[in-house]
Amino acid sequence: MFVYEIIRKKLDGERNSAEEIKELVMGFVRGEVAPEQMAVWLAAVYIRGLSDEETWWLTETMAKSGRTVDLSSIEGIKVDKHSTGGVGDKVSIVVVPLVAAAGVSVAKLTGRALGHTGGTADKLESIPGMRLNLSEEEFVAQIKRIGCAIAVATEDIAPADKKIYALRDKTATIASIPLIVSSILSKKLAGGADAFVFDVKFGDGAFMRRLEDAKALAEALVRIANLAGKKAVAVLSSMEQPLGRAIGNAVEVAEAIDVLKGNGPDDVRELCLAVAAQMLWLGGAVTNPEEGRSKAMELLQSGAALEKFRQLVSTQGGDASIVEDPTKLPQPSYRVEVQAKHSGSVVRIATRRLGLISGQLGATRMGAEKIDPSAGIIVLKKVGEPVKSGETLAILQSNNPIGNTIVEEVRDCFVVGSSAERLPILAGFVG
Ligand code: URA
Repeated sequence: MFVYEIIRKKLDGERNSAEEIKELVMGFVRGEVAPEQMAVWLAAVYIRGLSDEETWWLTETMAKSGRTVDLSSIEGIKVDKHSTGGVGDKVSIVVVPLVAAAGVSVAKLTGRALGHTGGTADKLESIPGMRLNLSEEEFVAQIKRIGCAIAVATEDIAPADKKIYALRDKTATIASIPLIVSSILSKKLAGGADAFVFDVKFGDGAFMRRLEDAKALAEALVRIANLAGKKAVAVLSSMEQPLGRAIGNAVEVAEAIDVLKGNGPDDVRELCLAVAAQMLWLGGAVTNPEEGRSKAMELLQSGAALEKFRQLVSTQGGDASIVEDPTKLPQPSYRVEVQAKHSGSVVRIATRRLGLISGQLGATRMGAEKIDPSAGIIVLKKVGEPVKSGETLAILQSNNPIGNTIVEEVRDCFVVGSSAERLPILAGFVG
């Protein structure tokens, strides 16, 4: 089969067959299909789209391009969750132990910080001693023993996605729903779980700015996961402002612990309960998501979820005493407050910019070799909250001195106006 013909068909808006997609993708992974050929096909997909069947063939090929985790020796339904990425997103840190505390096995493969968004692996590694680089044997054995594990997705999981994503990044072809679906789902399928909950975010700090686009992505993720024979639900959640009040690594772990103790910010708790409710339902622990929400709430209030978190941390080598004493988490050498210049209400927060600034403070790699686990931002005023001139909007943390330019930039991220409604966190469910 000529690669030329595969590309020509897609350029002309024709369908590619399963064999054609496999030949193209695997040829690209092996270095036999040139990057310029793959780039043109990706651009053709960006413009012409893919049918659901074609998207599934692409996803399956990418999922099988590397190692696939075999969870078949673990009894029952294994669930996983995925977030499309946001600022202050510590949901996995809460829901993995929460769902496992109900007896549902959670097999969570996770990523590192990407662009303005943080990564669960980097956040959890701020816990002294905590290891995320588990071997497959360790991952499976731990799920059997304690009901959950969180491991970083290694290079050999869906390597086709890594190669294709790098090319999409260079050729402005990231924002294509079939390409995003195949990228996300190929990694999830390779992770071996039976059912998935997708937290699809929309708004300034999300990958999809508009709710309609997030909804279309959520629907496509659920449809293609179903074609793969997997149960799936998507939760649509707002990223019009940071989730909770902590952005960074150690600060997010501390906030997640607060939520596990039954406290913490309302928006984080609400989203965690919504995601956990769906995971409990898909995992067969409850008969509907409403019951799942009550069950999740019960597990937070009884301390069972917190106890499972403690067990998760210590099993993966971490110092679980941070649960009682979060000041044992890495602390910054510098803390600077950013004050409001006017009185009023916060009407908007430039969330994406705040995520990037948190990265500049050291919370993501962003050119630096190492992450500063103590770096980040504490958001004291959220949208709809009143603020007086001179009151603190945010606290910046870093192990490096924090200059005035950053302070001014953060102040600019908070738009203070006359009045604003508080923003809801949930915008619906798909699936
Ligand atoms: N996240 C991914 O993993 N892949 C995409 O293409 C977009 C977001």
